Amino acid sequence: MIPAPGSSDVRVRFAPSPTGMFHVGGGRSALFNWAVAKHQGGTFVLRIEDTDAARNKPEWTDGILSALAALGMHADDPTFEGPYFQSANVDKHREATGRLLDAGRAYYCDCTRDDVAARTGSQQSGYDGHCRDRGLTYESGRALRFRTPDEGETQVVDLIRGNPVFPNASIEDFIVARGDGSPVFLLANVVDDLDEGITHVIRGEEHLSNTPKQQLLWEALGATPPVWAHLPVIVNEKRQKLSKRRDKVALEDYLAEGYLPDALVNYLMLLGWAPGNDEEILPFDELVERFRVEDVNSASAFFDVKKLLAFNGEYIRAMSVEDFVSAVDPWLRAPHALWRPEQFDPAAFAAVAPLAQSRVALLADITDNVDFLFLDEPVRDERSWAKAMKPGAPELLADARAALADLGDWSAEPLKETVLVVGEKHGLKLGKAQAPVRVAVTGRTIGLPLFESLEVLGRERTLARVDAALARLAQDPPQAPAQ
Ligand code: GLU
Repeated sequence: MIPAPGSSDVRVRFAPSPTGMFHVGGGRSALFNWAVAKHQGGTFVLRIEDTDAARNKPEWTDGILSALAALGMHADDPTFEGPYFQSANVDKHREATGRLLDAGRAYYCDCTRDDVAARTGSQQSGYDGHCRDRGLTYESGRALRFRTPDEGETQVVDLIRGNPVFPNASIEDFIVARGDGSPVFLLANVVDDLDEGITHVIRGEEHLSNTPKQQLLWEALGATPPVWAHLPVIVNEKRQKLSKRRDKVALEDYLAEGYLPDALVNYLMLLGWAPGNDEEILPFDELVERFRVEDVNSASAFFDVKKLLAFNGEYIRAMSVEDFVSAVDPWLRAPHALWRPEQFDPAAFAAVAPLAQSRVALLADITDNVDFLFLDEPVRDERSWAKAMKPGAPELLADARAALADLGDWSAEPLKETVLVVGEKHGLKLGKAQAPVRVAVTGRTIGLPLFESLEVLGRERTLARVDAALARLAQDPPQAPAQ
């Protein structure tokens, strides 16, 4: 069991390999570890497992650090220790293999995969122990294998999966150092955990099969194994394991689309765990207070992008208008935007910001909602045009134009009243009457509330756009639908 809150001897770690974009699953593992460290007053160790020189790149390490920081795990936080680099600990890994050898817990082996297959009759079988007692000494090309016990069983204490038991006879003599003498991941990972005083290993389920082997290594190296917790696999809507080939998994992509870090953190915390009381949207401190790794579910966790989007909308709506304005600022400035930087009018944006805030679910959606304010001409969206500009639209627009030109008070209420009256004259309810006006002025059938938008856009630009739409309709009148 994890010690009670207040004791500070809990040391957890997040140990990513810098081999690609930072994955949302990595974010979930990091956050669960972080939550345990925070909840217990313990320490969160970051270890970069960078021993696979062929696949590692320094930019992936930078990506890990910036992703963690984006999710609120900052290297200067007192809970945070590291980053340590696995590659810097290679001497200790080698020393550990030497100790295993000296203690008779490991032996050299010169079998090839084909040799083993020829003896066992299967390419898939584990190692058959052929070299166990041959007394081979080191020569280049000979791997070092750990001698697993023949009898007994290894019980893993796993806070999520019950305590699975593995008969030792079923655990093959696995390799701890390759033919060139370099220690393998399984061993390096254990030596580093041991060295860093890790008390709880909380990681993805894909490592569960390594765990009995690693626990044997802990014991063989004279240490008490940690408590384990294997987090459930994350799946897409087809119940397939989330994969970078199939699914959008890079945290960076979510941030670039305008998912808020707080919403992502909240959502990732719910992948396999629930805070209880049917509550889901909670501040991180509250999640930390309630988080217990023992309560994580072992069943696979569905990464529901729609739900994440809904969370994001909630988080956007909960922001102060001021924070919202600064959060969307990068989207309102070129190069994200369709308009030139000098066309952006902060005062006009400020006037519609609260309306926009109540309807966007993604920060990136802001541009479609407000582009009519900054572009010289509204966007040309043919589908919107065809939908709104039906027979009768030219007459309605012409009447609306005349009434708007005469309107004394150019503000939302009188604007609405004007379009309402014009619509009535054409036998149309307000919703139908405003559609051609909306498309003439904003280019789209959907967007911010129309009359507030017209108020901010101003009379001159509104009328000019209605005129332009009328000119287009005169040239290309709407066709009655075929009977
Ligand atoms: N470096 C391993 C990975 O990226 C993590 C191993 C562990 O957490 O023990 O999957």
